[in-house]
Amino acid sequence: MVTPRIVIVGGGAGGLELATRLGRNLGQQGKARIILVDACLTHIWKPLLHEVAAGTINSYEDELNYFAHASQNHFEFQLGRFEGVDRDEKTITLAPLCDSHGKPLASARHLNYDWLVMAIGSTSNDFGTEGAREHCIFLDSRAQADRFQSEFLNMYLRAHAYTDRHDNPPELNIAIVGAGATGVELAAELHHAAHQFAEYGLDGISPSHVNISLIEAADRILPILPEGTSTAARQKLESLGIKVFTRQKITQISQDGLQASSGLFVPASLKVWSAGIKAPDFMKDLSGLETNHINQLITQPTLQTTRDPHIFAMGDCGSCTLPGSSRPVPPRAQTAHQQASYLLKALPRHIAGKPVADFRFQDKGSLVSLNSSAVGVLMGSIAVQGKLARIMYISLYRLHQVAIHGFFKTAVLFCKDILSSKSRPEIKLH
Ligand SMILES: Cc1cc2nc3c(=O)[nH]c(=O)nc-3n(C[C@H](O)[C@H](O)[C@H](O)COP(=O)(O)OP(=O)(O)OC[C@H]3O[C@@H](n4cnc5c(N)ncnc54)[C@H](O)[C@@H]3O)c2cc1C
Repeated sequence: MVTPRIVIVGGGAGGLELATRLGRNLGQQGKARIILVDACLTHIWKPLLHEVAAGTINSYEDELNYFAHASQNHFEFQLGRFEGVDRDEKTITLAPLCDSHGKPLASARHLNYDWLVMAIGSTSNDFGTEGAREHCIFLDSRAQADRFQSEFLNMYLRAHAYTDRHDNPPELNIAIVGAGATGVELAAELHHAAHQFAEYGLDGISPSHVNISLIEAADRILPILPEGTSTAARQKLESLGIKVFTRQKITQISQDGLQASSGLFVPASLKVWSAGIKAPDFMKDLSGLETNHINQLITQPTLQTTRDPHIFAMGDCGSCTLPGSSRPVPPRAQTAHQQASYLLKALPRHIAGKPVADFRFQDKGSLVSLNSSAVGVLMGSIAVQGKLARIMYISLYRLHQVAIHGFFKTAVLFCKDILSSKSRPEIKLH
């Protein structure tokens, strides 16, 4: 019998867990070839990106190299940017590979698959807002988070170098569009970072002169969470001095700041867009597969795409509405994690031609980090906040680590994190 080839495109929260666990099962036993494709050489868990942007974690310490990880977990890794699929030939196309200076490394390649899992995540949706692409930083990738961190740090370095010449301390205006979990978490993290810079002697910009504005079009922040949680989060942010604007739709962004339809203008030199998501634009017309208005591949409850049972979509790039529900499962890390666990069992059954049960989503709740604390709901209705909620929030990341490294290595990494937090600055200063 020919060994089936399972190709997983996207090694993020969902795809990497699936590739690792399939590798340890089917790959190790020689029952299938598992091939993971990603556009990057290293993985960092996406919900950490606001901390990378604020410099409160060092992305180099929390990243994983795909080649090394694949060789330890019985799957193959292919570096490349997916750009299309030929469903008749059952091949995917990877774009030509270039180095960081744009020098070609490899021409376009084709990979065959028997079963294809799309797990390429999502990007920010700027809804075509004028000036957003030119003037905002998005937090879709490690590179973008690193760019924000570097611009944020540079402002402090500039102010520090010229402190003697300033009669008035400089002000730093930062605006974040979108007060969903990403925007709220980033605002709290930046506030913490501003205090850390001052503690490490970069006090050219005083924390009281760092103006952080969080702007939301809906009538409250964290609109998908219960009202009580949203109110608690707003109170916490405002107690830190963060300006929260609700019912403000940003219509235009310029070098100097953000213009809302109400007439409000928020001045800002550093601007972040974190309002809404969509799957990448090229998914809109992917070999005739069915997509929705935000380019997500529409799937059946088995995560198979509606027009091709050999192609699955998981995580943020898929839209799966389960029986008895009117809404698709939410695009979150816990969804990607649960779908990876589901496909780990479902794929071998598909390969063997056995019947497969539907995916079932268990909403374990949503937690939003506010630096040293957190707010959120568990099991749909239990409101939690404070340090306990923060511990639960961190446990989400540890669960991801357990899925890709196992318990022992996660425990080692946990100890390493504690030790290294005692020996390095609390904020990245380079
Ligand atoms: C700052 C921030 C904070 C968040 N906080 C939380 C939180 O607290 N809780 C929560 O549940 N969710 C949170 N989320 C959402 C969560 O990160 C996503 O829902 C989750 O990562 C989706 O997983 P995924 O596997 O679908 O995609 P991702 O984790 O985004 O992975 C996609 C992978 O695909 C690769 N890729 C993309 N395009 C291509 C291509 N063309 N070819 C090859 N590879 C490609 C990428 O390099 C990446 O490795 C947060 C998101 C952000 C940005």
